[in-house]
Amino acid sequence: MNIILIGPPGVGKGTQAKFLVEAYNIPQISTGDMLRANVREATPLGTEAKKFMNAGQLVPDSVILGMMKSRFSEPDCDAGYILDGFPRTIPQAEGLEDLLNDMGQQIDSVLVLDVNHEEIIKRLSSRRSCKECDTVYNLLFDPTTSEGICDKCEGMLYQRDDDKPETIRQRLDVYTNQTSPLISFYTQKGLVKKINGAGKIDAVKKRMLSAL
Ligand code: AMP
Repeated sequence: MNIILIGPPGVGKGTQAKFLVEAYNIPQISTGDMLRANVREATPLGTEAKKFMNAGQLVPDSVILGMMKSRFSEPDCDAGYILDGFPRTIPQAEGLEDLLNDMGQQIDSVLVLDVNHEEIIKRLSSRRSCKECDTVYNLLFDPTTSEGICDKCEGMLYQRDDDKPETIRQRLDVYTNQTSPLISFYTQKGLVKKINGAGKIDAVKKRMLSAL
């Protein structure tokens, strides 16, 4: 099963992808997580990506497609994958088609998650991540047991630079202008299932699993 998750930042793609990992036993591939790992390890790719990420801009398509090409060659992708945060532009979607053609694969479903922008701003400004293991929490809806400390690995929590209020608005604009055209791109291919991302995590999970 090869699934694409599309939705604005903060809609819950990462959270919901984890449920799909359990349900289908296939990996979640998050370009955002891969880029953040590169930034943390100060690789050349991370150094280049960081300036775009901190400004709420997209990292260039060529960088992302190169990174995904090597990710697809890893053996855990053989049974399928959940693409979380990729593709994010029409050129990326076209590049993905080329990569899939080369591998003799195709996308089975494109899940489009949506909630209104006010809710997104609220969710993103209270989002915190673990410095060590990347687990994501929300101060309002899903807090840790001890304030500022990861429940899983006791790492310190931090607020992503791009979750600061001034950058959130920019990221929503980027989503509207550059990513949302993918919805018609994949609707034309008959692959889109729209899911209401509002409400409790569990309610969204049920909607998503029944859409598949
Ligand atoms: P995310 O964790 O998916 O919200 O991604 C965080 C940031 O990483 C985005 O705001 C972009 O700067 C960058 N990024 C992640 N995925 C992509 C992508 N597919 N194309 C371009 N930039 C990306």
